[in-house]
Amino acid sequence: MSLIEAYFSEGCYIAAACLFMLSLKWLGSPKTARRANFISMLAMALAVAPSLLPVSKTHGGALVNNLVIILGGMALGTTIGLVSATRVKMTAMPQMVGLYNGFGGAASLIVAAVEFVHKRGELGAGEAVPIFLSVVIGGVCFTGSMAAFCKLQEWISGKPVLFAGQHIMNLVLLLGALGVAVGLCVVPAAGWSLWAFVGLVAIALLLGWLVVIPIGGADMPVVISLMNSYSGMAVTATGFVLRNNVLIVVGCLVGASGIILTRIMCRAMNRSLANVMFGGFGATVEAAGPAGARGPVKEAGVDEAAMVLSEAQSVIVIPGYGMAVAQAQHAVRELAALLEKKGATVRYAIHPVAGRMPGHMNVLLAEANVPYDRLFDLDQINEDFKTTDVALVVGANDVVNPAARADKSSPIYGMPILNADQARSCMVLKRSMNPGFAGIDNELFVAQNTMMVFGDAKATLSKMAAALKEA
Ligand code: NDP
Repeated sequence: MSLIEAYFSEGCYIAAACLFMLSLKWLGSPKTARRANFISMLAMALAVAPSLLPVSKTHGGALVNNLVIILGGMALGTTIGLVSATRVKMTAMPQMVGLYNGFGGAASLIVAAVEFVHKRGELGAGEAVPIFLSVVIGGVCFTGSMAAFCKLQEWISGKPVLFAGQHIMNLVLLLGALGVAVGLCVVPAAGWSLWAFVGLVAIALLLGWLVVIPIGGADMPVVISLMNSYSGMAVTATGFVLRNNVLIVVGCLVGASGIILTRIMCRAMNRSLANVMFGGFGATVEAAGPAGARGPVKEAGVDEAAMVLSEAQSVIVIPGYGMAVAQAQHAVRELAALLEKKGATVRYAIHPVAGRMPGHMNVLLAEANVPYDRLFDLDQINEDFKTTDVALVVGANDVVNPAARADKSSPIYGMPILNADQARSCMVLKRSMNPGFAGIDNELFVAQNTMMVFGDAKATLSKMAAALKEA
């Protein structure tokens, strides 16, 4: 590589790393998130550009082949990315992210494997350690993400798969992988090293699958965020293998942001990461018995609900997973516009774990052009419920369950919730008395000031809007 090419490569890498950091910052707010995506696309182009340089002069005629492979790969990846981005439903976004994480892990594993096979005889510890880290973390990330994908896609049961000695077996596998890796570091060129390496890859792949199957399907978004962090760590290790600065920096960014997000999600559910990973959530809830809130329910039709809303001066909408399932975000905005026209103030209360992925509700409401300044986080709005006429719960359940405040035996005890029950009147839009993700009763549904409006949220909202127009 000439000096100019080296400067060009490092310049591109530094610019890409800076842009990736900027885009992470901008992703923190819905106002700047779109810009962040464009910036990260640009950063990715800069990170890839040096790979297209004609450096393969040193490899004789390899240039043409390399370019064909790189451009062919880029074209294939772009096509898959474009098709999946436009076709995959918002509710399937967590598993799509999971799939991408898994591919990142697999790529790290493959690059490290190729390096090991090529350099086996001359590997020093400084090169061997990142290779084995890439293999182990990348392998765990690949099959772990695939298990998460299969659970969310319902290709395999979402229930926790638990058996005796499971965690000990995983520990033994991890220690086994470490033992093989240490052995390979000490004698990388031994006759048996290739077979030992194959064994290491197999252990890593098996471990990833076994670590994820005991986790309940509904906890998969947390697992996917954790796997995202692993994919970053694997990429960092691969960066050391290839001595590529941009991989090291970007891997660290992904690794750190993934673990921060995992922590935020666990904290918002008031659960530790250990509880998510080893608690078998879902199995324990099922064991608690069938769910369904007890007590008389006040059921209301759409006309009655529309009448109550038409009298309201202040309304807080609480969107939940059901809004995503029903794709009711546009209907919510239309109803809100009608209420505002009648002089009411309409705001949206966003719980940090409403839906099935971080920012799920923000994305849906932004898609429906709900102004950002109407969206309020739990801390910002929770005190205002006491002085609000109607809390309109659209397909939310756990995030408004008062048991989290009062019932110490509840699996969600301690999780901060939105105080919908404290509004003068609470209106819940859902299809049945079925529980939400946590699988537990919700006393809000039988409260004195709650009216249940049963039906698909989108259809109900549209009918309510029609009734309001006529009123
Ligand atoms: P929930 O899962 O508690 O409840 C969703 C409700 O939506 C259900 O009770 C369901 O009732 C209703 N629903 C489903 N489809 C429709 C429809 N078409 N129309 C109307 N209602 C519908 O959702 P929440 O958002 O309240 O809570 C999220 C849960 O997910 C929390 O427990 C959280 O801890 C968990 N979680 C969240 C993550 C995140 O990152 N956001 C990650 C991991 C877990 P019915 O069937 O009767 O209609």
